[in-house]
Amino acid sequence: LSVQELVEASVARISETDTKIGAFLTLNEEGALAQAKDMDASGAAERGLLYGLPAGVKDNIVTEGLRTTCASQFLSNYDPIYDATVVEKLKAAQSVTIGKLNMDEFAMGGSNENSSFQLTRNPWDTDRVPGGSSGGSAASVAAGQVYFSLGSDTGGSIRQPAAYCGIVGLKPTYGLVSRYGLVAFASSLDQIGPLTKNVEDSAYVLQAIAGHDKRDTTSANVEIPDYTAALTGDIKGLRIGVAKEYLGEGIDPQVKERVMEALKTFESLGAVWEEVSLPHTDYAIATYYLLASSEASSNLARFDGVRYGVRAEDPANLLDLYKKSRSEGFGPEVKRRIMLGTYALSSGYYDAYYKKAQQVRTLIKRDFDQAFERFDLIVGPTAPTTAFRIGEQVGDPLTMYLNDICTIPVSLAGVPAISVPCGLADGLPVGLQIIGKPFDESTVLRAAHAFE
Ligand code: GLN
Repeated sequence: LSVQELVEASVARISETDTKIGAFLTLNEEGALAQAKDMDASGAAERGLLYGLPAGVKDNIVTEGLRTTCASQFLSNYDPIYDATVVEKLKAAQSVTIGKLNMDEFAMGGSNENSSFQLTRNPWDTDRVPGGSSGGSAASVAAGQVYFSLGSDTGGSIRQPAAYCGIVGLKPTYGLVSRYGLVAFASSLDQIGPLTKNVEDSAYVLQAIAGHDKRDTTSANVEIPDYTAALTGDIKGLRIGVAKEYLGEGIDPQVKERVMEALKTFESLGAVWEEVSLPHTDYAIATYYLLASSEASSNLARFDGVRYGVRAEDPANLLDLYKKSRSEGFGPEVKRRIMLGTYALSSGYYDAYYKKAQQVRTLIKRDFDQAFERFDLIVGPTAPTTAFRIGEQVGDPLTMYLNDICTIPVSLAGVPAISVPCGLADGLPVGLQIIGKPFDESTVLRAAHAFE
């Protein structure tokens, strides 16, 4: 198969399915075809790790000359002048970027219903959400439009849509993958990671994008192991802790059943499991929404109508320009978070909210440190339910926020986690979340691979 044929197949699949699915915001058809022809012509003697594979990129990751909107009206005209580090790395690994994928505006949300441009539909049932915020990234892989995609995960945005769409989604350890060129939502939580059909592909894509980057001050300077070499199939003796709090109240009984069945599979593969408690789980959502919104309110201050994106017309003065541009440019969920975060950071409230949340974050992290003294991995569901219906939770942000109860603590702790499909509930995919020690993606991938 030539690269051109691969790219043409991807483009054909998109034109066949995307009027229904709505995964893509921008297509790079011409660029992708030109790149493919070049690659075929030069017949690369030494092939990159992802040679010729059609890829989709979430629209909050900047791509040189290719529109990057964060699914926001504010950036509806923004064409970046540089590539994010991960995009450079994809180029070096020789995959072909087919286009940019829909998301919740600025990655705030869990259903793609906060995109200011379009809905994305779940390929398993187009009346349902694909999850979010990397909903376009998950749906495009599930619908067979691209071979793999990149998403970003701040509180679950890779893992939850992967679970809802029946694919594999990996959130790496905070700092493993460079955030340079990822439009910041909550900088202390944001991580880029792969969405793929299977665990082996996940290992390959991670291999291509991981690594130290001096342009990201929080990038970790660690040795990158051979992730594919970790996929031995052997998990004998592995100690698994089952997060008790993730299987409590609010979890769909069928989801719980699938997770319990997964544990039996692990047992049959020679692993041992036991219940473990992560006692501060109850505080995770409140902690996350204070911290993530605080960071967002600061990060999004750069969108003022002067430097990036759309500028409001006919402002009376400079302050009015800021006001008008921000009022027109941001959608309702983004405004809600900016207000929440600004409040939490304001003098007089800072100690009660932001500082307190930082302290609780440390306790949540400690829950994981303690559990990992006894276990190699922690498992649980990725989300308490399967994909919900479009419109079902709109107007009820609190219920929407609760969907992330199993993914948010992991983000606050900064540890890696993967979501792998573990069967169906009423015909819809269920995701199993496998959580690892910091920078131990190898064990996470090994267990996920042995399981799938
Ligand atoms: N759903 C969560 C939120 O709305 C997580 C989003 C994310 O991980 N980007 O903030």
